[in-house]
Amino acid sequence: MSDASTLPVSTKVIEKLRVARQANSVSARALAEAMTEAGYPIQRSVIANLESGRRAEVSVDHLVIAARALGIDAAILLRQITAPCPHCKGTPPAGFTCNTCGGAA
Ligand SMILES: [Zn+2]
Repeated sequence: MSDASTLPVSTKVIEKLRVARQANSVSARALAEAMTEAGYPIQRSVIANLESGRRAEVSVDHLVIAARALGIDAAILLRQITAPCPHCKGTPPAGFTCNTCGGAA
């Protein structure tokens, strides 16, 4: 598991979570509150720092809780990054769900 072309995974996870957050019109504050309620206390500023690149790494707990709060599948999100679907390359067209991998833009 040292394929440099897939690194850094954290940066790509954060980007996908940001895209999903904005696609669902969820503010960083609302996401932080939802994650806190789900048992993962986090400040809005931490999410802002991650999305702006001031913080470079995201924990697996953060990924799972944030994905759940946004209504997306953390496993699919991670797979799109580490093993992109050969059909859609992990990024189906906006508004579409890939029939091969189930991923959605
Ligand atoms: Zn696909």
